[in-house]
Amino acid sequence: MRYSALQVLYRGLFQKKWQPAFTYPDLKKRYDVIIIGGGGHGLATAYYLVKNHGFRNVAVLEKGPIGMGNIGRNTTIIRSNYLLPENSRFYEKSMELWQALSQELNYNMMFSQRGIINLAHSDGQMDAFARRGNAMRLQGIDAELLNPRQVKKYVPQLGMEHNIRFPIYGGLVQNRAGTARHDAVTWGYARAAMARNVDVIQHCEVLDFIKKGNKVIGVQTSQGQVMADKIGMSVAGSTSVLAGKLGLKLPLESQVLQAFVTESIKPVLDRVITFGAGHFYISQSDKGSLVFGGNLDGYNSYAQRGNLPVVDEVLAECLALFPQFAKLRLLRSWGGIMDMSMDGTPIIGTTPYDKFYLNCGWCYGGFKAVPASGYVFAHTIANGKAHPLNEAMSLERFAAGRVLDEKGAGPFPKAH
Ligand code: FAD
Repeated sequence: MRYSALQVLYRGLFQKKWQPAFTYPDLKKRYDVIIIGGGGHGLATAYYLVKNHGFRNVAVLEKGPIGMGNIGRNTTIIRSNYLLPENSRFYEKSMELWQALSQELNYNMMFSQRGIINLAHSDGQMDAFARRGNAMRLQGIDAELLNPRQVKKYVPQLGMEHNIRFPIYGGLVQNRAGTARHDAVTWGYARAAMARNVDVIQHCEVLDFIKKGNKVIGVQTSQGQVMADKIGMSVAGSTSVLAGKLGLKLPLESQVLQAFVTESIKPVLDRVITFGAGHFYISQSDKGSLVFGGNLDGYNSYAQRGNLPVVDEVLAECLALFPQFAKLRLLRSWGGIMDMSMDGTPIIGTTPYDKFYLNCGWCYGGFKAVPASGYVFAHTIANGKAHPLNEAMSLERFAAGRVLDEKGAGPFPKAH
């Protein structure tokens, strides 16, 4: 239901009984589908299971409060500027869903299609960007190759001289890319799922699985045992630990990625910029803070915080690109656990276990994927087989040698 500003004021002052938007149900003994993990992917999957596939008895089991994992820790970049057709089609579906998400969930996602510019610092990089831009356009996705003059027009703050440390040769822009408010994604999907009677059970850690032959029929949780016809797992950085309880060895590594935020300043940057000579990327939030990040800490870890060498590296890259930001004060930094797949592409699909489905391997890029991931994972769970958009993202691709090696297309040119 939508209210005018006056109605909201009236109701706020005089209405005693507000209908709570969030529910806190008790864990039932049995569900048709259980989704493990109340991050973006888990909540979106539950929402689409009910909305698109008619399920009525669905639970999301989350070990902490919802929204405290990577969904609340990312730098909110949304794009579909991929090279490989399997990836560009998938991320473009996500972009389509993002464009209508605030209306669909009746929750302001603060989706801002401000554009992302990948900067190139060599002729070779310009060639690679031309190839990626052409591949995108062949998929019907917007892309424009920029010369240095055009880059300067988009981002006047950038130094374009030839004698700077990393001269800018040009860039690739996707104008429909941008950012969204990550917390809103959690609350929006959670509220919409709850309104459709999904039980979102918080502080309910899945500790182990209950098997019958080759089928996973339930889970042991910190709140007791619960059975289900189908089980989907979306636990991001904790995937290998939990899958290990089933004896599943996955082609994943868990590593820390850090992010940083400065004090708020007046608007200075109206695009997302990635630095092609290193791993740095930056945007300005609606509150005015500069939000930025860089490379992984580079070793396996389950700590949700990072180490100083990466702080040093990221700040050095920031100042190489924008020396004028040297006077800003850094407010906070934090880390999240990345489930790094070995080809940089996620795994969404069936597993060697009957009725047990996997959604993981999002590397640095799972925020932008949330809507499409929920959409196709719900389809996969409902039908017992992949949606055409996630067919190529199977677990078997690693054994079969059909990897989707997307190196070079992320915000981090040397990584995924
Ligand atoms: P999460 O929010 O981590 O959800 C997983 C949930 O599973 C957690 O809430 C966790 O508590 C729960 N869980 C774990 N184990 C159990 C258990 N045993 N039982 C029950 N629950 C369990 N992506 C982009 O697209 N753009 C970006 O700009 C971007 N920037 C990033 C910057 C940083 C610093 C980080 C850390 C990540 C970034 N990402 C970005 C990646 C993106 O945030 C993740 O890929 C995505 O959020 C992962 O999916 P999720 O939201 O479901 O994960």
